[in-house]
Amino acid sequence: MLLEDILEHNNQFVETKSYQLYETDSLPNKHAVILTCMDTRLTELLPKAMNFKNGDVKILKTAGALIKNPYGSIMRSILVAVHGLQAHEVYVVGHHDCGMSNLDTDDLVKKMKSSGVTQKDFDQLDIDVEEWFQGFDQIEDSVKSSVELITQHPLLPDDVPVHGLVIDPKTGKLDLVINGYK
Ligand SMILES: [Zn+2]
Repeated sequence: MLLEDILEHNNQFVETKSYQLYETDSLPNKHAVILTCMDTRLTELLPKAMNFKNGDVKILKTAGALIKNPYGSIMRSILVAVHGLQAHEVYVVGHHDCGMSNLDTDDLVKKMKSSGVTQKDFDQLDIDVEEWFQGFDQIEDSVKSSVELITQHPLLPDDVPVHGLVIDPKTGKLDLVINGYK
């Protein structure tokens, strides 16, 4: 079982002081906050491809690097990083071949129903499920609209640059979509 493997490994990790390689403080040395996707291919690739090591940046992850709600937990985290944790710029990093690209919400709802979610459960929600799970057609457009939402947030200072990039989940190559310094 995964949990047992994790706990067993963890004993070793701590005992052999492997953590010493990663020691740093809680402030981002490169003064940036990154919003990216939870895609498993990016777990190690993105920090390597962008030259980030432990302690360099704050990294937030959502499905699709999407931010749609200006008053949700992602925007709150960005604002905390900027105002409370010395982040001076924001990077939205989407990626090609993303699971949120052309996500089939009908199929997702079907899968929920087959795992036991009932119509009554759906009826209790005060959101539009289709809209809530909606992904995007073009990653560049999605990155642009996330950058826009962050840039225009009333609580984000005007002098905080917000950049938009797209990463290749295989090679790590970055394409610049929006240069926030301009
Ligand atoms: Zn993704």
